[in-house]
Amino acid sequence: MHLNPYGEYAVLLAASLANEWPTDRGGIVSRTRDFGMTMQFAQSPEDHERSRDVIDDWLRVVDTDDARERATLLNAHMAAVAAYPRLTDHDGEGWHLHYRDDDDTLSRVLQAVISVGTALHLTTRGMHRLSRCAAGRAPGDDCRNVVVDVTRNGRQRYCSVRCANRDAVRRHRARGSLTAE
Ligand SMILES: [Zn+2]
Ligand SMILES: [Zn+2]
Repeated sequence: MHLNPYGEYAVLLAASLANEWPTDRGGIVSRTRDFGMTMQFAQSPEDHERSRDVIDDWLRVVDTDDARERATLLNAHMAAVAAYPRLTDHDGEGWHLHYRDDDDTLSRVLQAVISVGTALHLTTRGMHRLSRCAAGRAPGDDCRNVVVDVTRNGRQRYCSVRCANRDAVRRHRARGSLTAE
C-alpha cells in the first residue's frame, strides 16, 4: 500500500470500516482492495474479531478532540505494532515503504497502516481533522459516522450531504421558532 504524505487512504479506510463494518473477514479484505491495498494477508481465525478491536481502538482517537490525547493514543497504537520501516516492491506497485513486518496478519497490518496513516493525516493536515458527523450532536439524531476532513479549507463537519441538509433544516427550524416567540 502507498501511504501518500497525508496518510489519506489509510485514514479513509479506517473511517469506511468504522462507518460500515463488514460482516466477515472477506469483507474487510475487499475493503482494503477498494482503498488501494494489493497485498495478501496471513490468515488467522481471529482476523475478523481482532480487526474490530483495531477499529474500536481507533475510534477512541476519533472521540477525543484533545490533540495531546490523540497523540498519546496513536503513539501507543504505533508502538504496539512497531517494526522498522522497510522498502518493498511487491505486486508491481513500485518501490514504497511498509511500516510493518512482511508476514503480519490482517489485524496487525490494519493497525500499522491505520495508526501511521492517521498520524500522518493529523500532523500534516491538522490535529482537529477527524471527528464524528456533526449532525449526530443534535438530540435524537443517530448518525455516528466518522468524518475525515481532507478538504482544502478544513471545514468538513458532516459525513454526507444528507446529514448536512438534515442539520440545516433543524437549524432553520430552531431560528424560526425563536423569531416566532
Ligand atoms: Zn505495499
Ligand atoms: Zn452523518
